[in-house]
Amino acid sequence: MTKKQKQILYRLILGAIFLILAIILPTTHKITKLLLFLIPYFIIGYDILIDALHGIINLSPFDENFLMAAATVGAMILGEYTEGVAVMLFYQIGELFQSIAVGKSRKNISSLMDIRPDTANLVLSDGSINMVDPAEVEIESTIIVKPGERVPIDGVIVKGSTSLDTSALTGEAVPKNACEGDEIVSGVINLSSPVFIKTTKEFGESTASKILELVENASSRKSKSEHFITKFARVYTPVVCFSALALALIPPFLSVISTGSWEFSKWVYRALTFLVISCPCALVISIPLGFFACIGGACSEGILIKGSNFIETLSKTKIAVFDKTGTLTKGVFEVTEIHPIGLSESELVEYAAYAESFSTHPIGESLKKAYGKEIDRGRISDISEISGMGISAVIDNKKVLVGKPLLLRESGVDFEKCENQSTAVYISIDGKYSGCIIISDIIKDGSDNAIKALKKTGITECIMLTGDSREVAQKVASTLGIDRFFSELLPNDKVEIVEKLISEKGAEQKLIFVGDGINDAPVLSCADVGISMGTIGSDAAIEASDIVLMDDNPEKIPKAINISKKCMTIVYQNIVFAIGIKILCLILGAVGIANMWVAIFADVGVMVIAVLNAIRTLNVKNL
Ligand code: ADP
Ligand code: MG
Repeated sequence: MTKKQKQILYRLILGAIFLILAIILPTTHKITKLLLFLIPYFIIGYDILIDALHGIINLSPFDENFLMAAATVGAMILGEYTEGVAVMLFYQIGELFQSIAVGKSRKNISSLMDIRPDTANLVLSDGSINMVDPAEVEIESTIIVKPGERVPIDGVIVKGSTSLDTSALTGEAVPKNACEGDEIVSGVINLSSPVFIKTTKEFGESTASKILELVENASSRKSKSEHFITKFARVYTPVVCFSALALALIPPFLSVISTGSWEFSKWVYRALTFLVISCPCALVISIPLGFFACIGGACSEGILIKGSNFIETLSKTKIAVFDKTGTLTKGVFEVTEIHPIGLSESELVEYAAYAESFSTHPIGESLKKAYGKEIDRGRISDISEISGMGISAVIDNKKVLVGKPLLLRESGVDFEKCENQSTAVYISIDGKYSGCIIISDIIKDGSDNAIKALKKTGITECIMLTGDSREVAQKVASTLGIDRFFSELLPNDKVEIVEKLISEKGAEQKLIFVGDGINDAPVLSCADVGISMGTIGSDAAIEASDIVLMDDNPEKIPKAINISKKCMTIVYQNIVFAIGIKILCLILGAVGIANMWVAIFADVGVMVIAVLNAIRTLNVKNL
């Protein structure tokens, strides 16, 4: 409890004592009795009365303060002193509970996301260590991270090797080993021995800061349900107020005409009960809280959701579209065959590796690995990467093309196609076909289960898009049980196909696209929900996608969908439950069955239950 919450609690206890005194003190004198009840009334509710007055002065009276003030002042005027004070008391208890519960779950969620340390150990040039604010550490500085500490800034290990706990980022519990030369991202915890890290980014640009920024902004992107609740509250409260007014005036008027008696106070009392019931706080609080807790829970599983609108869309996913390389397959190619023409095998690999020297594409990485030697950048005079096609480069003053068949064909190079079920990289030197290198990729361990689990979530079609050859695509699709695939695509073709798929499906059937962030940013942003994976540190993919999976395990995709479904179920439960109970109480109040006691207990009770229910979205471990 915060200091302020404690103060409120003491105030309520004091008010309650005075209320009990007022009830048990024997007075028959009317004014004395009223004064005795006014003491606890003001102790308990003065802030609400003041806020209600502010609302009236600002000409926007229809909020819960006004409702409570009007209902309790009315009750006092009717002489229902105990009820007037008690309603105020229970309303305040409800508010207090709510602020404690919300504060607590916000704190829980924030601690889940507390991945950004406040200090960094900067290694100075004389070897001494200085503890500084990580925001002051410049790029290319050396920092030391001791066992048990969280890495504050992204960088590369320059000395030492250790194992890392990446669970805060990826949800993956198994420690990861890292040694000299390995990249290391902020947010992970160093487990075993101290490592020296040369920073490659500023603190604010580092992974942990980026992730936090993203999650903090998530609540500003509201879902349709949240918009509905805001609108609902705006309409609902005035409607109930005017109904209350009608209830106070029309039936007495009718009864005067028919029976000649007024029965005014009976109807005013019912109208006041109406006002108490009409408080919409259960919804206004619990719906945003549910989404917020869901985002926090998903984050602890390595699933970053950039807004509650995406939770809602994701829960309606019917079509899942995947990129192949790096998404369903590992994207770690091994060279399996080399077919040179007119030069040696090693020369062919050398040219390929030189051409790929600046590429971050998985194919490029694998060719560089196969070459295995230092690249002499001086031999390269020009390089350009043609997205989804390959590389064009000038090496030793010779024009080298490395890529898919289309790349060579477009430059008018004659070549024969390799008949193979694996990916083939074609190479031409100075316009002459010089051979091909066969590389093979491995399907990820989780892909198979992911597709199966996705179908269980109610997805009707899984589709794969790839720039690779038809044969390779066919093989992967049939191994995994993919329903449809499109092959030999350029990045633009992927956008066109996704747009076409979106236009063909119903508006309530949502399409997700899952990519690895390498040349698929345009597709990620045109899908209903774009999911990028395995992209810790890749800014472009984090920017373009709506959901970021922090490890590259495809099984997180069905998990994300299940999380979103659970969240939406809870949100709908709360909407139906809260509105249902309210309407029931309104009817019972109007016909005189529910009195003010029932009303206040219904109000506080619904709110407590809705808030507790909303917090359940935080728990996503076993989905
Ligand atoms: P995917 O759609 O499977 O993710 P990409 O669109 O990244 O594949 O690439 C499609 C094809 O283009 C690859 O299969 C490869 O033949 C060729 N290609 C793309 N980039 C490169 C590169 N850097 N080096 C060689 N070939 C490449
Ligand atoms: Mg790709």
